[in-house]
Amino acid sequence: MTVNNEGWGSFKTNKWLFTTPSSSYGRPRTPVSNSRVTEGEINGKVPESPSTRTNRLRTLSDRGNEILDNHEAVKNLYAWNWSEVRENYPERGIHNPSIYCYAISCVQLLSHVPAVVRILQDHRCQDPTCLCCNWKKYFLQSQNHAGSIAWFREAFKRDKKFNQGRQEDAHDALLAILGKIDQIALQNPRLKDRKVADDLYGYSIRNEVQCRVCKNKHVYYENNTVMTVRMLKKDPSGRHHSIKELMQSLFNASTIYGYTCGNCKKKTDAPVKPTLLRAPQVLILHISRFSFDGWGKKILRPVLLNETLDVSSMATANASTVYKLCGAIIHGGTSLDYGHYWCIARSRKREQQFITLNDSSVSNQISSQDARQSYIVLYRRAEHLAITGAEKSMI
Ligand SMILES: [Zn+2]
Ligand SMILES: [Zn+2]
Repeated sequence: MTVNNEGWGSFKTNKWLFTTPSSSYGRPRTPVSNSRVTEGEINGKVPESPSTRTNRLRTLSDRGNEILDNHEAVKNLYAWNWSEVRENYPERGIHNPSIYCYAISCVQLLSHVPAVVRILQDHRCQDPTCLCCNWKKYFLQSQNHAGSIAWFREAFKRDKKFNQGRQEDAHDALLAILGKIDQIALQNPRLKDRKVADDLYGYSIRNEVQCRVCKNKHVYYENNTVMTVRMLKKDPSGRHHSIKELMQSLFNASTIYGYTCGNCKKKTDAPVKPTLLRAPQVLILHISRFSFDGWGKKILRPVLLNETLDVSSMATANASTVYKLCGAIIHGGTSLDYGHYWCIARSRKREQQFITLNDSSVSNQISSQDARQSYIVLYRRAEHLAITGAEKSMI
């Protein structure tokens, strides 16, 4: 971050959006800097061609181009659809011995991302407490009606995380799991030194600030994985907001108060316009349902999930990226400290079918009312799905 101002915290709609310890946990480790992709690394795949660059925003800086170069390379490195996994597993539940629904729902959700399943399939190591080895052994490859979850706690024992014998936050668990996947040994030599979480879920926001005095423009980038969106103020008409509206609000023009211009050194309130430079391969949104007034209060208002989500209106160069809803973690209960988490997902074997995965149970029934209480929502790129043509609404 190169902005030297005090107003940054108030610029973003949500103070703890990028600053909570849990958010930083999942932040990619130096995601794209010094990661210029060379032809050799792409390993036989067609490297980014000059023509691709000519399609980009002309004023894009070297840094901006570097982020997009990295993004181009990622397209050929992972399994983005189910035909690229070694084995496609039947749907099964996970037995919940007590309070592990927060972890079970995360494991279920991520087990519906082909790239994750393929990474787990390719990985093996000697650590008996390894999250990824045990995820595969006791859940994906389990022959039982329902998998187990005991391995989840074991994996985080050394980190002193999730050991309190109480309900934890699914968002924290998700970021912790992404962190673990990021650290495992990747057998595929093409993935050596890659930042997996950033490759799979990473997105980049390009912020353009303009000094009111000298009109000098300053651009800086933010990279993150799970995208936190806030609930919007209640609509007076009683209409429910969609998740696209929540996401769009992150990209509204705003003001940085007390911005010091690097060019003229004057301190002013400067307008800033964020745009989505790099749309992730897999988009994970976390709906922050905490209320500002009164701590720990959960906002129960429904959020409509767009089954198809086009983010071109947020994109830096109006590039069209279309996503399909592929899963969500739902939280039932009036407080985020209590209640129950479960998951809905597109079936691994029949992508036109949504299923409900609630602890050990698997059902073909979906409740749209439940879906509107989502807490974490997962989208995959439309081109990665086997579905073609119009789809009948399922949510
Ligand atoms: Zn392992
Ligand atoms: Zn200036």
